[in-house]
Amino acid sequence: MELTGIGVGRGVAAGPVLRMPEPLVAPSDDPHEGDTAAEIARAKVALAAVAVWLTERGVHAGGEAGDVLSAQSLMAGDPELVNDISARIERGSNAERAVVDSCDAFQKLLEGMGGYMAERAADLADVAQRVVAELRGVAAPGVPESDIPFVLVAHDLAPADTAMLDFTKVLALVTRDGGPTSHTAILARAKSIPAVVGVNGADAISEGSMVVVDAANSRVTLDATPDQIATARAERERWLTASHAPLTAGVLADDHAVPLLANISVLTEVPEAVALGAEGVGLFRTEFLFLNSTTAPSIATQQAAYVEILAAFPGKKVIVRCLDAGADKPLPFLAVAHEENPALGLRGLRALRAHENILRDQLIALANAQAESEADLWVMAPMVADLEETAYFVGLAKELGIRVAGVMAEVPSLALVAEQVLGVADFVSIGTNDLTQYTLAADRLIGSLAAYQDPWHPAVLRLIKQLGDAGAAAGKPVGVCGEAAADPDLAIVLVGLGATSLSTTPAALADVRAALLTVTLDEAQTRAARALTARSAAEARTLGSR
Ligand code: PEP
Ligand code: MG
Repeated sequence: MELTGIGVGRGVAAGPVLRMPEPLVAPSDDPHEGDTAAEIARAKVALAAVAVWLTERGVHAGGEAGDVLSAQSLMAGDPELVNDISARIERGSNAERAVVDSCDAFQKLLEGMGGYMAERAADLADVAQRVVAELRGVAAPGVPESDIPFVLVAHDLAPADTAMLDFTKVLALVTRDGGPTSHTAILARAKSIPAVVGVNGADAISEGSMVVVDAANSRVTLDATPDQIATARAERERWLTASHAPLTAGVLADDHAVPLLANISVLTEVPEAVALGAEGVGLFRTEFLFLNSTTAPSIATQQAAYVEILAAFPGKKVIVRCLDAGADKPLPFLAVAHEENPALGLRGLRALRAHENILRDQLIALANAQAESEADLWVMAPMVADLEETAYFVGLAKELGIRVAGVMAEVPSLALVAEQVLGVADFVSIGTNDLTQYTLAADRLIGSLAAYQDPWHPAVLRLIKQLGDAGAAAGKPVGVCGEAAADPDLAIVLVGLGATSLSTTPAALADVRAALLTVTLDEAQTRAARALTARSAAEARTLGSR
């Protein structure tokens, strides 16, 4: 039997299932019996203890997990939360009930904000569980431990859990909840292990059963047969070998060069990108630097961050994207009034244009950083719709001293007028995540629509072909920086469609590097031509993968 969800990360893994322990029994609704001040004090002591524990655990974990844990620690100590809990106890709630209700209320508030904030909302439920455990004097819900490697199955994974996991033992992750940007998904990419999230039916996967987790095909095979397990293990071996292959530059079997670049969201990812052989950066998502800023960052603050990333790639290309605010990545200082459909709203370049001073400051900071550095800085705008917007951005960037200025192809209209755009832009970078969501008109954040978010769809491939052809005609680079470039089979097709470079999450570089070496440009073009004739994404995947 097979279950499907959203595949994240790379590869296939097979192993026995260990399930996350169930959460604690919910607190009762009975009013507290002691005196109110003592009950409030009890809650405050528990909150403080959990905050300290999370801080310590964050320091121990370091990196991205550490950041998330210290954010959780701040949640536990948040004065508004503490006051709300105290007020609930004053109204009669027992401390446990007050903690759960209060965290629940704040969680709903965050979920209502949508996007990144909504993804982080689940972290509060984890804080609540830990505080309740502290109040009861019992161990907080923990992670399973095992002497042998296992596949972890959970409702969803909280950051504090994942910091405790021994990743030398975790072969793969399967979760019932969560989308492609959930914490579980981020973690799977960072640890280079396969995951399938949002799996309907995950609750029924039994402890100790053998499963195969296939991230590329978004599939979990239950009660796997010895044959299926052997195939999956052989595939994993192949993948591990590829990931230890020499860090050569991206090249096809006929020596046709396809530079392999890294997608970077936070500066802490840079060392890994360098270690994994990235030939530069194909997408630096600058908005992640300022997700929590309530005011626009100063030129000096930005310049320092840009100098840091440029310094890691001397003599190499670094493509920086201007702030991509809106929908899944709200920036308070670029916020707009409530929109019914934020994905179709004032976002990306549209939002920057509405706050041109912020765009100007960013371009000045980038031009200053360019002057201070030896990297080859390219700058691009997100969510650009057509020639007029391209001309606006490229004109402004050049006026402010940017040497190489281009645009992202994420909106189908831009692909349809690609030759006009490439008459003005120095380069185009195809953001297949958004290009897919807008081509199929399916919000990429809605889990139930995840099946539409498939860049193998022939409609998406045809738009990419138009962009590739326009780039070749203009003699200008057309790279791909969406997640599609991390799929080794699709990476070959993208090159066949005209992509001149590929930029992926660093963990996928080895896989893509190995795949490119298996075909000549002619063969890549043949695969692309076959995929273009497909009548569905599934058929394109089949036709384009051989
Ligand atoms: C994309 O849309 O493909 C892209 C690379 O940008 P982001 O995922 O940050 O929207
Ligand atoms: Mg995008």
